[in-house]
Amino acid sequence: MQELTHYINGTHVKGTSGRFADVFNPATGEVQAKVPLAGAAELDKAVEIAAAAQPAWAAVNPQRRARVLMKFVDLLNRDMDKLAEALSREHGKTLPDAAGDVQRGLEVVEYCIAAPQMLKGEFTDSAGPGIDMYSMKQPLGVSAGITPFNFPAMIPMWMFAPAIACGNAFILKPSERDPSVPLMLAELLEEAGLPKGILQVVNGDKEAVDAILDNEIIQSVGFVGSTPIAEYIYGRGCTNGKRVQCFGGAKNHMIIMPDADMDQAADALVGAGYGAAGERCMAISVAVPVGDETADRLIEKLVPRVEALKVGPYTSGKDVDYGPVVTAAAKANIERLVQSGIDQGAKLVVDGRNFKLQGYEDGFFIGAHLFDHATKDMDIYKTEIFGPVLTTVRAQSYEEAIGLAMDHEYGNGTAIFTRDGDTARDFANRVNVGMVGINVPIPVPLAYHTFGGWKKSVFGDLNQHGPDAFKFYTRTKTVTSRWPSGIKEGGEFSIPIME
Ligand code: NAD
Repeated sequence: MQELTHYINGTHVKGTSGRFADVFNPATGEVQAKVPLAGAAELDKAVEIAAAAQPAWAAVNPQRRARVLMKFVDLLNRDMDKLAEALSREHGKTLPDAAGDVQRGLEVVEYCIAAPQMLKGEFTDSAGPGIDMYSMKQPLGVSAGITPFNFPAMIPMWMFAPAIACGNAFILKPSERDPSVPLMLAELLEEAGLPKGILQVVNGDKEAVDAILDNEIIQSVGFVGSTPIAEYIYGRGCTNGKRVQCFGGAKNHMIIMPDADMDQAADALVGAGYGAAGERCMAISVAVPVGDETADRLIEKLVPRVEALKVGPYTSGKDVDYGPVVTAAAKANIERLVQSGIDQGAKLVVDGRNFKLQGYEDGFFIGAHLFDHATKDMDIYKTEIFGPVLTTVRAQSYEEAIGLAMDHEYGNGTAIFTRDGDTARDFANRVNVGMVGINVPIPVPLAYHTFGGWKKSVFGDLNQHGPDAFKFYTRTKTVTSRWPSGIKEGGEFSIPIME
């Protein structure tokens, strides 16, 4: 049994709290490693080391800091297959999807190479007589990030790359479900030239999180995960005077208008609904066809596609569309919600309940499910299922469809499929959701834009990556300066006297 570690001051450090969590291989159901769960003393020690290392890192000029990230990009590309394999083994997603997880993080690292440009301040010449005014963007000191299981490479990189580029030290508390890749990323950053202590990986659960929230040195906390925990972290972190941004859960609606290309819409729904076993915060989990005729055509196209999905372990290579879900508890929760959908009267048009995979009977696999005729009051509509379950709610008009997306408590992503520019434009303008796709099912913005939802999908104001990240990880200092006239007036030749 492998015993994982923390990564502190450039070395792997064993846990000392005596508490561990099991890390599973979701494909087989076996425990493959134990991850230490840090107590407050371990966390505080890691923060002290980070705080001691940070001023020297902040004093390295931004261009040199960016060069470390350039080298890190090279190393990520060199080790892409190794990282993807380690990620799939703990998360369960397919290898191409795991490589995508690394890639979307890498792209934010690439963006952060622009640190010298992004950190330039502002300058006003002659703001008053002899007065200049300028602002500087300075690092916060020590920042921390708490990340979810579903993107164990991408989301840590979305946080630590801009934090480090800005001259901060960073404490990463990864998900205890799949902690190996974050540890590998810390090793690679050090190989790229990052000084020891600037990226510390502290594994743990609620105890480590609470220690982060209560630590007086930590200046900012980034969180990505489920909404109840996001709300809790935001409240406690803000009360303790920290800068906090928390990104929570989702229930992403895709509206299908009668004029949409139905094959294109069905293909998009299958990829966005079932990819990564539905364990993406930008997964489409609700299909909203407009009109019964549209709904009938859509369901007719969807059923064979959903039935044909290939479910299996990442080791089966490209023949697999999605893998197992992350834990037995996640599987049980998804099965419970599917049953609630049946009990509350939705029509299960693709029933994945009897799915079995020979040789992997103990793995956390779930067959694909498709519901039709779901309604707003059902649990399968209200709750984030986070599994391979697509729920169809039929709307009778465009207004009813956009109203569904707008009334839902979550507002992470949404999409509309139509050939009509006016409808698309109206939807993009009015919908109260943070990321909108027009004939694009998973509108995850690229690194140089920002990522963030609205409503209960976010607590805090700035988004992740893009220009917002440079704001989140810096403080602005504004200087007003006046230099009295002096030496430039020329030399004094008579003896100085008091006047
Ligand atoms: P989670 O909330 O269970 O865990 C996230 C992190 O919080 C982990 O590091 C975990 O150790 C910690 N944590 C868990 N319980 C805690 C507690 N009681 N107190 C303090 N810390 C605690 O989320 P998850 O299951 O790992 O990830 C899935 C969720 O993340 C989904 O809801 C998904 O929508 C969301 N997510 C959101 C985004 C986004 O950008 N909005 C992106 C990815 C995932």
